[in-house]
Amino acid sequence: MEEKSSGREGNAEPVVLGRSEHSISRRHIDPDALRILFRLHRLGFTAYLTGGAVRDMLLGKEPKDFDIATDARPGQVKKYFANAFIIGRRFRLAHIHFRGGKIIEVATFRRDPGPDALDQPVPGTAPQLAFGTPAEDAWRRDITVNALFYDPVSATLIDYVGGLADLRTQRIRVIGNAGERFREDPVRIWRVIRYASRLGFVIAEDIGREIAAQRHLLCGCSPARLFEEFCKDLLGRQTRSVVTGLRDHGILGLLLGRIGEAFETDSLLFDKACSLLDIADREKSLNHDLGLAEMSALLFWPWVESLLAGTPPDPYTVLKKAFTDAGMAVALPKGLRAQIMDVMALVGRMIRALRSGNMRWSMRGRPQFVLASRLCFRIEKDRAPETGESFESLFQQAFPARPIWGARRRRHKTPAG
Ligand code: ATP
Ligand code: MG
Repeated sequence: MEEKSSGREGNAEPVVLGRSEHSISRRHIDPDALRILFRLHRLGFTAYLTGGAVRDMLLGKEPKDFDIATDARPGQVKKYFANAFIIGRRFRLAHIHFRGGKIIEVATFRRDPGPDALDQPVPGTAPQLAFGTPAEDAWRRDITVNALFYDPVSATLIDYVGGLADLRTQRIRVIGNAGERFREDPVRIWRVIRYASRLGFVIAEDIGREIAAQRHLLCGCSPARLFEEFCKDLLGRQTRSVVTGLRDHGILGLLLGRIGEAFETDSLLFDKACSLLDIADREKSLNHDLGLAEMSALLFWPWVESLLAGTPPDPYTVLKKAFTDAGMAVALPKGLRAQIMDVMALVGRMIRALRSGNMRWSMRGRPQFVLASRLCFRIEKDRAPETGESFESLFQQAFPARPIWGARRRRHKTPAG
């Protein structure tokens, strides 16, 4: 197997596999993505499918989304596709919108400015990139298995970085010098762990050492950017394995402050989080997607549980202080934080009600009641609720003689909930 030594070999000859030498078929590609690719080709541009879609199709998995790389500039994409919108302030790319909320990302080939470039406006943000060739675009990417191109016109696979060999041997390899690439953009440390965990691939020993040496740099990254990555893992299909990978590499404490530290030092606490994440991952695999507030509440619940156990008179003050004091590097937006705290305060209340038989049913009017009810069910039953199952059904089973009041009727008596 051919090894490449440095990450700046933008002109190296690629390995090209013809139609009969790989397993990707156009039938596996989203028809809208195919239409964009062929249209760009007809307009005289080069356009490849890239990133996770190519990787997943080669692994026989269904891709989550289809990203396109092209030599058309964002303005040209906008000109030729009426449903294209330009996004991104630092680096502009086109999002092509379709019915049902589907978005296909079309990015122009870019190149890495190299380790000496001083054009990183804010430390911890991704490096600034200029337009480049397909080869340069492959080499600027983070991980070899994420840097493959598929050309639908010739049905060929194009590999500049040794990604095909790494897919075969199930290895996660950073493109170029791992230490250098992590210093340039520490978020790559997280991404290496993400894909190793999701795919069950091995991280080479030297990369493992670089992760240990450089992981502290993640704390210097923009909290908003860390939140973007956090969303990818919470909303992705294998949250449990990625969170476990982050813990194994000592990164959970860096990202989630005291919450992560508690998960790293207390195995029982972490096991509880894993059981809940396993339930959620099973739900997601059945195409029942969970939202950010629900997934965050599920992850944080084992840590919050003990704070709410002593029946605090004002759980919101307790939760607010706990989250502020946790010192998370990942910035949770205010609105999301409020939603998570709402869900948790309600779950705390529900669990107490299941022990005592006393429930303030006016709480059914709260916007987060349904999410809390589902989370409470998972915690109590160790599985996802099915149709008709909820906190109310648990309560009725436990206290068949007690009525469940409607929200409106109660709210009339106690307006402030
Ligand atoms: P999936 O979407 O299935 O999680 P993906 O590989 O498409 O996997 P994205 O986060 O969508 O991952 O990113 C798209 C591509 O952009 C990646 O495949 C990778 O090549 C490149 N990329 C993303 N983040 C970085 C980074 N920090 N440094 C270099 N390349 C990156
Ligand atoms: Mg992707």
